[in-house]
Amino acid sequence: MSEYEAVIGLEVHVHLSTASKLFCSCPNSFGDEPNTNVCEVCAGMPGVLPVLNHKAVEYATRMALAIHATINQRSQFARKNYFYPDMPKDYQISQYELPLCEHGWLDITVNGGKRRIGITRIHMEDDAGKNIHPQGESHSLVDLNRAGTPLIEIVSEPDMRSAEEAVAYLKKLHSMVVSLGISNGNMEEGCFRCDANVSIRPRGESQLGTRTELKNLNSFKHVQKAIEYEIARQSDVLDDGGKVVQETRLYDAGRNLTLPMRSKEDAQDYRYFPDPDLLPVVITDEELQEWIATQPELPESRMQRYTADMKLPEQDAEQLCEDPFLAEFFERAAHLGGKPKKVANIMLGMMMREINQSGISPSEMRITPEAVSELADIIDNGTISAKIAADIFPELMKGEEMPLSYVKAHGLAQVSDSGAIDAAVQKIIAANPEEVRAYQGGKTKLISFFVGQVMREMRGKANPAMVNESIRKLLG
Ligand SMILES: [Zn+2]
Repeated sequence: MSEYEAVIGLEVHVHLSTASKLFCSCPNSFGDEPNTNVCEVCAGMPGVLPVLNHKAVEYATRMALAIHATINQRSQFARKNYFYPDMPKDYQISQYELPLCEHGWLDITVNGGKRRIGITRIHMEDDAGKNIHPQGESHSLVDLNRAGTPLIEIVSEPDMRSAEEAVAYLKKLHSMVVSLGISNGNMEEGCFRCDANVSIRPRGESQLGTRTELKNLNSFKHVQKAIEYEIARQSDVLDDGGKVVQETRLYDAGRNLTLPMRSKEDAQDYRYFPDPDLLPVVITDEELQEWIATQPELPESRMQRYTADMKLPEQDAEQLCEDPFLAEFFERAAHLGGKPKKVANIMLGMMMREINQSGISPSEMRITPEAVSELADIIDNGTISAKIAADIFPELMKGEEMPLSYVKAHGLAQVSDSGAIDAAVQKIIAANPEEVRAYQGGKTKLISFFVGQVMREMRGKANPAMVNESIRKLLG
């Protein structure tokens, strides 16, 4: 047990999937030709005026509702001043003193224990463009397609105590924004990104230690590893009698370590002030009521339905609800008649294995809920064994064939013919006299050896319950 306790807070930036940008009508889309989605407003030309996209306000409010926060129906945009080539206005439009949302929370479960994580605030802001540094060239390029796209920043309280808790919190937020339909949550494209503030203090101490801010965390795995590394690094510094320096550190995934980027002395003074070009953001009572009434179902209530109504174990329900696409898939397959627990077994076992191996995302799968429902059925009614199901699953993932017709076409149906099974058992008994003696002498655990041999003899197609029964009968 470490003598230190870690204190972690996260700042999460979520890209909102509105059709147009935050203050102009340029398309808010990813992957287009550089500088094609740009106008005078998002290019920061003088003399132009921003006009707020109210859809972004709705999306931000939906997130605020989801975390039980106080919603400021009147909030204010502010200018955050700094100079960087990918930000042509020379300031970012953000919210400072009067954000859209304050004082929220969400619950996480880690190792069976539930913890409540406070959320300080959610504010809206526009994103910067992107600097591109062509390899081997002495110049850089700027792509302004992303400049002016809408973001929300979700700032947590320093309530997390381990890398696992930080990842659980992030995954929960991620499943919420995707379920709400306000973001695609794509981490590789930077649509869901996070900075972590990490400090440590002696266990039992209530005062906070000096914190560092970690950047460049673009996957759940990087978040976990960077925080773990940083806790160990700070512990070493304190153990050696040193002091942790307040600074921003960059995570290097290749070498799995964090490196100093800038210290507190270099910290910028952003000279925030209310943006004189923008009116206060107002949410009317009618709007708020409508958004509350049309709020999509969140992972938490979904989970409750799965455990209470569909009788899934909590762990299965939680895993399925982490990804809204998987949850939808599961519900459709169960709705088509597949027993919920059987469908969940297929999805969390064979399907996750295939997804992890191929590196595709669940939404790219070709297999249909119809196929998974049918597969659950034919395992359940004994047409095929679970072993055969696992063998043919990679083929079914291609989405070209339905399980039952595939099984029939390839002669894979389970053999439940007791004559055929008895014959195979007799053959195995004859071939293994020593094991037979040992079994009959009391080593009854050898039953699994015989079952294995018979299953192999019958190429995995025998009904396992009948094989068991036949061996017991014939060995006496
Ligand atoms: Zn524009």
